[in-house]
Amino acid sequence: MKIAFIGLGNMGGGMAANLAKAGHDVRAFDLAEGALERARANGCTTFATAREAVAGVDAVVSMLPNGAIVKSVYSADVLGQAPVGALLLDCSTIDVATAREVAAMAEAAGYRMVDAPVSGGIAAANAGTLTFMVGGPMDSFAAAEPILAQMGKAVIHAGESGAGQAAKICNNMLLGASMVATCETFKLAERLGLDLQTFYDISSKASGQCWSMTSYCPVPGVGPTTPADNGYQGGFATALMLKDLKLAMAAAQAAGAPVPMGHRAEELYAAFDAAGNGGVDFSAIIKTL
Ligand code: NAD
Repeated sequence: MKIAFIGLGNMGGGMAANLAKAGHDVRAFDLAEGALERARANGCTTFATAREAVAGVDAVVSMLPNGAIVKSVYSADVLGQAPVGALLLDCSTIDVATAREVAAMAEAAGYRMVDAPVSGGIAAANAGTLTFMVGGPMDSFAAAEPILAQMGKAVIHAGESGAGQAAKICNNMLLGASMVATCETFKLAERLGLDLQTFYDISSKASGQCWSMTSYCPVPGVGPTTPADNGYQGGFATALMLKDLKLAMAAAQAAGAPVPMGHRAEELYAAFDAAGNGGVDFSAIIKTL
């Protein structure tokens, strides 16, 4: 297939490379020259504008920083420029309302569109092992699935337009809150004189078990190897966790849903980010406790 790829950053760079590796004609665009160079080295053809990249394609994939950029790129450079009927897949993490708005604009202009945000970080993007949660009509999902499968290990239909974004921010709100809870639990266990590996061995087989503990333990030397064992470098940046928590808070407010734990996690991550920790892994918040 001829696939345009817009947004070749930390995530999009690896994803576009995997589509090229799978044999697609990948037509890439990014504002940053360095990103274009990397895309060329990975087998993509690069273009000077998004409009040129989307001309004549079967599908457009985007991986952009936020909802305002997604809306402006689709309305200015994709709709009316890509062939009518093309499949549009936005994999960026953005707010639910903008995802629905852009999908409605796309449908009105004769395109099929899905929101398909991802779980998994840069390593999973490079390895082609992302999990996609997809919102959109069933026929659009069916068309998007084989493309997404070439960049991921799981592709799940979450519901109608915006449902992929809703699933993503709900999941990440739970992740943020459970990470803070895991961190404070280990600090309390330490204060109470427990050996932390022993506590891990108990709690990981008891009712406190959760992903933040058993797959991403914030305590160095305890549980599997995690960013904690690498000075909290790599992994999932605090700034990105804060972005997702802010999206979750905005969605909760719009929906009138009480989220006291998510709200507290957002406050704690906002303070941690403001103290200059935006680039470190989000499990490093344990150092503040
Ligand atoms: P990034 O900043 O590395 O990449 C974004 C890219 O978009 C940049 O290369 C930038 O030049 C480009 N860009 C910005 N405006 C553009 C425009 N108008 N036209 C074309 N290109 C433009 O960010 P990232 O880490 O790759 O994240 C991308 C998306 O994926 C975000 O929505 C993020 O929340 C989500 N996400 C990131 C991770 C992660 O671990 N990094 C994990 C899951 C989801």
